[in-house]
Amino acid sequence: MTPKEKLSIPPQAMPEQDAAVRRGNMDEVALGYTEEQAKLEASRCLQCPAKPCMQGCPVAIDIPGFLSKAAEGDFGGALEIIRKSSLLPAVCGRVCPQERQCQKFCTVGKMNKDPEKAVAIGRVERYCADREAAEKAAGAARPVPPAAPASSSAPRRQRVAIVGSGPASITCAADCARAGFDVTVFEALHKPGGVLVYGIPEFRLPKAIVAAEIDSLRALGVKFEMNCVVGRTRKLTDFLEKDGFDAVFVGTGAGLPRFMGIEGENLTGVFSANEYLTRANLMKAYDEGGHDTPYWHGRRVAVLGGGNVAMDASRMALRLGAEKVYLVYRRSEEEMPARREEVFHAREEGVEFMMLSNAKRIIGGEGGRVSAIELVSYSLGEPDASGRRSPVEIPGSERLFDVDTVVVAIGNSSNPLVPATTPGLETDSRGRIKVDPETNMTSIDGVFAGGDIVLGAATVILAMGEGRRAAAGIAKRWQRRLAQMD
Ligand code: FAD
Ligand code: SF4
Ligand code: SF4
Repeated sequence: MTPKEKLSIPPQAMPEQDAAVRRGNMDEVALGYTEEQAKLEASRCLQCPAKPCMQGCPVAIDIPGFLSKAAEGDFGGALEIIRKSSLLPAVCGRVCPQERQCQKFCTVGKMNKDPEKAVAIGRVERYCADREAAEKAAGAARPVPPAAPASSSAPRRQRVAIVGSGPASITCAADCARAGFDVTVFEALHKPGGVLVYGIPEFRLPKAIVAAEIDSLRALGVKFEMNCVVGRTRKLTDFLEKDGFDAVFVGTGAGLPRFMGIEGENLTGVFSANEYLTRANLMKAYDEGGHDTPYWHGRRVAVLGGGNVAMDASRMALRLGAEKVYLVYRRSEEEMPARREEVFHAREEGVEFMMLSNAKRIIGGEGGRVSAIELVSYSLGEPDASGRRSPVEIPGSERLFDVDTVVVAIGNSSNPLVPATTPGLETDSRGRIKVDPETNMTSIDGVFAGGDIVLGAATVILAMGEGRRAAAGIAKRWQRRLAQMD
C-alpha cells in the first residue's frame, strides 16, 4: 500500500454503548474494534523510519513493528512485540493517555493537522490483547511468557517481598518471578490490583481483565497475602531482618486523598473521590442486594476537580442513580487535566460542567447532612508554574447552590504509612520515596520502590516502567551478592 493509499483510510471510530443506555449500567463504554477495523487502523501507519511515536511511549514499545503485524492480520505476532516492553496491553490499550503519549507524536496526526486523526495505537493494542484473551477463553494454547529481563541462573532462589499490588508491583512481581525468584505480594486490601480495581471504574476497565493478569502472576508462582497493611500488620524491615526475604519492593501508590480545607468538609455526604470510587468499584456498592456495602443515594451531586478522577467520580455518580451531577472546576475546560475522551464521554452522559467556579464552603442542613455549597466565580489570570492560566477569584460572586452530595477530587498524595514506620527510608518534601534513578533502590540497601509512591500521582504505564526497572535492579544486586558469596 502506498503512503497516499494509507492516508486515504479514514480513522476507525471506536464502537461504543449509547450514552443514554450506558449511564444506567456499569458495562464497558468502549466496545472494541472489529478485526476489520483493527487491520484498517493499523494500515494507516506510515512506518516512519524515525519512529517518532516511540518517544511518546514510556516503555518504548516498537509501535510500527506491532502495527505492521496487525495490518497483516498477524495479531499474535503484534502482541509478541508489544509484550517485549509492556506487561499489561489490555489495560494500557484502554487507560493510557495516548493523546499525550504515543499518539501525540504520530506523523499521521501531524500531516492531518489534527491529533484526533493520529493512528489509534492504543485501540489496536487493546484489540490484540482482547483477541488473545478471547482465544484463550475459547481454549487456544497459552502464549509463552515474554523473556525475563534478568538472569535466571540463580543457584538459590532470591526471596522478594512486594508491598502493594498496583501496576508497579504487578510488573515488578512478574519480572522477578520470570527471573526465577520466589515472590510474595503483601496487599492491604482484600483484592489485588491497586487503582486498577479500586479506582478506575468497571465501565472504563473491566475488572475481569485485571483478575486475568493476577491469575497469570499466580500461574508464575507468585504468592499473595491480602489484608496485610505493611507498617501495621508487619514492619517493612521485618521482611529483611526476620522473615528471610532478600529484597523488598515498595509500590504503595498515591492513595492519600487531598481535601479543600474549607468549612463543612466533615459533613455527612462529603466524600473523597477515592472513598466514593472504592465503595462502588471494589466494594460493589452499586449492586444493591448483591453486596452489603452501604452508599449514599445522592440526588444532586457536586464533584470538585477537573482531572480524570473527577470524570470517573461524576460518571460513577450518574450510574449510582443521581438525578443531576455537576462538575465544578475553577479554571476553564481548556486547562482541565482530564483526557479529552473522558470529558466528551462525561458530557455525553449528562454531567453538567460548571467551569470557572469553585466551592468556598459546604453548608449543612438537617442532621449534619450536606444541603448546599457556596460557589464563587473565577476569571483567568497569568499562567502559573504549571503553564496553565491561573484562576483568580471574583470578589462578591458568591452564591448558594443546592446539592446533597459533594465528592472532592482534587488529587492524591503519596501513601505515608510505609515511610512513616520505616526509619532511614528517605522521602522528598512531598512524601515521595527517593530512589536511585537507575536501579530504583531506596536509601535502605535491599529496599526498592516504584510507581506513584516515587513519582507522585502519575499513570499506569509509568508505574509499570518503574516496576520493571526495580525488578532489573533487584536482579542486578542479587548477581553481585552471589558473586561475593562465591
Ligand atoms: P497503586 O495502583 O495505587 O497501587 C498501590 C497498592 O498498594 C494499592 O493496592 C494499595 O492498597 C496498596 N498499599 C498501600 N499502602 C499499603 C501498605 N501499607 N501495605 C500494603 N499495601 C499497601 N492512570 C492512567 O494511566 N490512566 C487512567 O485512566 C487513570 N485513571 C485513574 C483513575 C483514578 C480514579 C485514579 C485514582 C488513578 C488513575 N490513574 C490513571 C493513575 C494510575 O492508576 C496510577 O498512576 C497507578 O495505578 C499507580 O500504580 P502503583 O502501582 O504505583 O500504585
Ligand atoms: Fe501508547 Fe500506552 Fe501502548 Fe505505549 S503502552 S504504545 S503509550 S498505549
Ligand atoms: Fe506509524 Fe504514526 Fe508511528 Fe509513524 S508516527 S510509525 S505513522 S504510528
